[in-house]
Amino acid sequence: MDAEIIAVGSELLTPLHTDTNSLFLTERLNSLGIMVRFKTIVGDSKDDLAAVFGSALARSPLIVLTGGLGPTEDDLTRDVVAEVLGRPLKEAVEIRRRIEERFVRMGRPMPANNLRQAQVPEGGEWLDNRNGTAPGIWIKHKDSIVVLLPGPPRELEPLFDAACAPRLKQFASGERIKTRVYKVVGLPESEVDNLVAPIYRAYQDISTTILAALGTIEVHLRARASTDEEAEARLAELGDKIELTLGDHVYSTKGESLEEVVGMYLIMRQKTVAVAESCTGGLLAERLTRVAGSSNYFLGSMVCYANELKTRLAGVPANLIGIHGAVSKPVAQALAEGARARTGASIGVGITGIAGPTGGSPEKPVGLVFVALADERGTQVREFHFPGSRDRVRHWASQMALEMVRRRIRD
Ligand code: ATP
Ligand code: MG
Repeated sequence: MDAEIIAVGSELLTPLHTDTNSLFLTERLNSLGIMVRFKTIVGDSKDDLAAVFGSALARSPLIVLTGGLGPTEDDLTRDVVAEVLGRPLKEAVEIRRRIEERFVRMGRPMPANNLRQAQVPEGGEWLDNRNGTAPGIWIKHKDSIVVLLPGPPRELEPLFDAACAPRLKQFASGERIKTRVYKVVGLPESEVDNLVAPIYRAYQDISTTILAALGTIEVHLRARASTDEEAEARLAELGDKIELTLGDHVYSTKGESLEEVVGMYLIMRQKTVAVAESCTGGLLAERLTRVAGSSNYFLGSMVCYANELKTRLAGVPANLIGIHGAVSKPVAQALAEGARARTGASIGVGITGIAGPTGGSPEKPVGLVFVALADERGTQVREFHFPGSRDRVRHWASQMALEMVRRRIRD
């Protein structure tokens, strides 16, 4: 069975909001063996939604709509679906009772608008939403299934898992879809493709996509088979060959981020890390601390932007900065060693560079970054020339710093 997703909400058509519900739904549908063939985002407009839903109904056996089930006038999904299906809205007594009860509990009068949420198109069933007032709605219409789910992810996700997934299992074809993602650092996209294309071309039944994200290349594999085991076996066969070819450039096979992988290695080796950052302004510390449990290995970061603070916080000799300049190999080295010495961390990292767009010179152009790593075996410094904007240079600097830590502790 193939599915179609319609995300409703004008905010999703602005640069400020992303439709993440469809990503969640696609993952869940795929794991039930259901392929998503179309995805549409449509604003809170009656006519537009009616048009989109009308075409979906003509071509897709399963249509999942998200959003627009709220109590306000601009929440139109339920009304439009009822109208297009020709099923008048009927009040679900149980839902009305729950909504009224909720307002009694809160000790507030109920605005009449809230009763809109108790309306269900005739013949439809409501699905219990334990995290909000708007129930989901399940409608079997001719040969199609239409599912309406609330917009907030914290309502939609548990509702889908509890009420929709079990029902959909009956309709799924029995075909299973499995995916695997390899994340690669330190190789350009074209080189990754050159290396793996000859391998994956021989696997016509597995769809392979190579994506470049910031500082990472991702190789996505997707296999369809009649059982989970068979799909996994196909993925394992191709995946193992790809992993072998890309070698230690692969840092993740289960979706982990580079900072998570570094964290796992640090815990495994019982090592700690401290950072002295200049041009990244704390970005490396921010990434390291995104990971829950990072207090087990991350001691802290000195953001030493001014030269004087490089000396005061990280102990970089003032004359070293005087002779070589703040963006230089010796200063990066002194930052890393200072971070290590002053915190007692097993690994010290130092970053100094020119993020731009101004401040470059012919000898030290924008994008020049030195990253140093100091540990009990000594100090290594790498020189990088990152292209692109200030944001990109800073992100790449933090990425390569993490990569240097990963390589240092994995061997
Ligand atoms: P409510 O009962 O809360 O009004 P609703 O079903 O009407 O729910 P919306 O009003 O459309 O949902 O959206 C509520 C919030 O849910 C939005 O502000 C947005 O943060 C989030 N949301 C809606 N649609 C999506 C989506 N497709 N992906 C991610 N978040 C979404
Ligand atoms: Mg909305």
